[in-house]
Amino acid sequence: MNKIAVILGAAESGVGAAILARKQGFDVFVSDLGAIKQKYKAELIQRGFDFEEGQHSEVRILEADLVIKSPGIPDKAPIIKALKEKHIPVISEIEFAGRYTSAKKVCITGSNGKTTTTMLIHHIFQQAGLNAGLAGNVGQSMAWQVAEKDFDYYVIELSSFQLDGMYEFKADIAILLNITPDHLDRYEYNMQNYIDSKFRITQNQTASDVFIYCADDPVIKPEMLKRKMVARCIPFTLGEPPAEGAGFKDHKLIINWGKNIFTMSILDIALQGNHNTYNSMAAGISGMVVNIRSEKIRESMADFKGVEHRLERFLKVHGIEFINDSKATNINSTWYALESMTQKTVWIVGGIDKGNDYSELYDLVKAKVKAIVCLGIDNSKILDAFRNFGLEMVETQSMMDAVRSAYYLAKKGETVLLSPACASFDLFENYEDRGHQFKQSVREL
Ligand code: ADP
Repeated sequence: MNKIAVILGAAESGVGAAILARKQGFDVFVSDLGAIKQKYKAELIQRGFDFEEGQHSEVRILEADLVIKSPGIPDKAPIIKALKEKHIPVISEIEFAGRYTSAKKVCITGSNGKTTTTMLIHHIFQQAGLNAGLAGNVGQSMAWQVAEKDFDYYVIELSSFQLDGMYEFKADIAILLNITPDHLDRYEYNMQNYIDSKFRITQNQTASDVFIYCADDPVIKPEMLKRKMVARCIPFTLGEPPAEGAGFKDHKLIINWGKNIFTMSILDIALQGNHNTYNSMAAGISGMVVNIRSEKIRESMADFKGVEHRLERFLKVHGIEFINDSKATNINSTWYALESMTQKTVWIVGGIDKGNDYSELYDLVKAKVKAIVCLGIDNSKILDAFRNFGLEMVETQSMMDAVRSAYYLAKKGETVLLSPACASFDLFENYEDRGHQFKQSVREL
């Protein structure tokens, strides 16, 4: 008799997992507690999968030999608790996909910068002619690709939720960009749980694997001392270049790797700002590890187009530059956005706050910001936080109003920055919707 795989959640990762599970000889049942998006439903029907939506039929689900769950479903969900009580293994789609490929895996995690770094590494690999797939939180599901394509490398963006469902998976190259408090509601408000989850990216690594990490990060550094790291550990820093790893000197990004030395002026790097220098360092090191020529890495880091909604320099209107950083949903990413501003800035901020401490931004706001446009249903916390700064502050509740107000407040040569430090669900569908509305409103000025 075939083993039974139950897939919980029928979006990109779930449908991919279903396709791979069937290919591997499982009997497959897909269950989604919500409504399944049309695109994925059509796929399930066309491929003849047995599935349900709007419910979880517990009796059926508990017959599973293996459950692959979407990272969106928390461990607290009743169905997951019931599965755990019966000791039925519950794993993530990446864990599952990893079992059926011998491709090399480059895995990126961190609180901020994952998508940017993942896309940059994929760009470098592709430009160098490597046969590399893009997976994880970006692009197509890894399981789907493992089932239907054949790559030599996967560049995989991993959230802590995905890592939580990973056990045997091993990254050949693991990258940890930074750790700042985020999603703590899923970690019992215990920072150490979140840190442990991020460090799972190094699990099962051997001495021939590589772990690339930010040596300047105040959370990662002490954590490294506490742990016995098995892999070859390669740091990156904005300080002196280490004997092995990436550093910064005389406005140059420098990477030392074996006998090879990579140098590049930061002016030539497409991604600007200190946070992006970190991302470029991590990407550059992984390029060196897989033996891509320095020249190729330089070219790719120079012509990378960036990722939409991440410090995206969108348009200049009458000499005022509009930057879309809608993806900044926490204080840390907004901190880096403000830090990278070179002109006086009108800052659009607000939405649903996940427990922000705005005092972390005080110095930067003093140095860079000339006016604040609040954009949210409840702006009281932001108004309170910056009340005594002597800045002009306006409250708005639609993107069009926010953009118009910002445009009115900014002068030629200045910048309007949308970097909300908050989630978007009070006024928008998601951060993409918020970013698109921003760009549309700017176009209409
Ligand atoms: P993630 O996938 O981890 O959410 P993104 O690449 O989508 O990260 O970027 C999210 C936000 O964080 C953007 O506002 C971006 O400008 C900012 N950011 C990018 N890289 C970093 C970094 N290394 N440190 C802090 N913030 C960053």
